[in-house]
Amino acid sequence: THFGYKEVPIVEKENLVKGVFSSVASSYDVMNDAMSFGIHRLWKDDFVSTLDPGNDIVGVKTKCIDVAGGTGDIALRILDWAREKHADRDLSVDVVDINPDMLEEGRRRFRQTITTNILPGRQCTRPGEGQFPSNTYDLYTIAFGIRNCTSVPDVLSEAYRVLKPGGTFACLEFSRVSNPLLAQAYDTYSFSIIPLLGSIIASDRASYQYLVESIRRFPPQEEFSNMIKAAGFQISRKGGWRDLWGGIACVHTGVKV
Ligand code: SAM
Repeated sequence: THFGYKEVPIVEKENLVKGVFSSVASSYDVMNDAMSFGIHRLWKDDFVSTLDPGNDIVGVKTKCIDVAGGTGDIALRILDWAREKHADRDLSVDVVDINPDMLEEGRRRFRQTITTNILPGRQCTRPGEGQFPSNTYDLYTIAFGIRNCTSVPDVLSEAYRVLKPGGTFACLEFSRVSNPLLAQAYDTYSFSIIPLLGSIIASDRASYQYLVESIRRFPPQEEFSNMIKAAGFQISRKGGWRDLWGGIACVHTGVKV
C-alpha cells in the first residue's frame, strides 16, 4: 500500500482494465454523455481552458502528452483551444492509451489534425522504461484515467520524468464529495443508475459497476495532492486542486521544478 492506495498486481489489473475499455470502446462516448448528462463535456472544457494551452509567439512548439487519452476528447480540446485562442498551429499532442480499440475510435476524429500522434502504449508501469524520452513535454494531461492505472505513484513519477522542467502536470478525475446531502444523492445515482444505464446502453453492467467502484477507491483530494507532491511536483499554495461540482470531479495540478 502506498498512501492508502491499494496496488493490484500489474498484469491482473491491466488485463481487467483493458477488458473493461475494450468492451465499452464503441459505446464509450454515448455512455459518457448518458451517465453524466453531458456534464463531462463542461468539465473537460473547463479543464482545458484553465490550462490555456498554446503560445502566442510564432514558431514556439508546445509539446503536450495526453495519457489515457481514449477517444481523444482532451487532445481535441487542447488543439482547438491553442488554434482558436492563440492562433497556435505548432502545438502538438501525443495521445497515449493502452487500448487500441479506444484509440481507433479516436483516430477517425483526428483525420485532419496532422499535429497529433496516436501512440498505443502504456504509461505508468515502470518509471523510466516508458517509450517516451525524459524532459520532453510542456504539458502532461490525464483525464479520468489515473484511477485505472496499476500504480498511481508510478504514473506520477513517469509524468515527472517526461515533463520538461517548468512543465505542468494536470489531472482531471472523479473525486470525493464533501457535502453529505450531495454525497448521498450521488451515491444513489452511481450505484443504481449507472450500472443500469450500462446494461441498457452498452449491454455491459459489470464494466460500469467496476467504474463506479474504482471511483470510490481512488484517494480523496488532499491525499492525492500529497502523492503529487511526493513525486516531486510543486503544488500551488491553495493546495493544488480545484473541485468541480462539489468534488464529483476535481482538477489537480503540479509543476515540475
Ligand atoms: N481521457 C479520455 C476521456 O477523458 O474521455 C478517456 C478516459 S477513459 C475513462 C480511461 C482510459 O484509460 C481508457 O481509454 C483506457 O484504455 C486507458 N488506460 C487504462 N489504463 C491505462 C494505462 N496503464 N496506460 C494508458 N492508458 C490506460
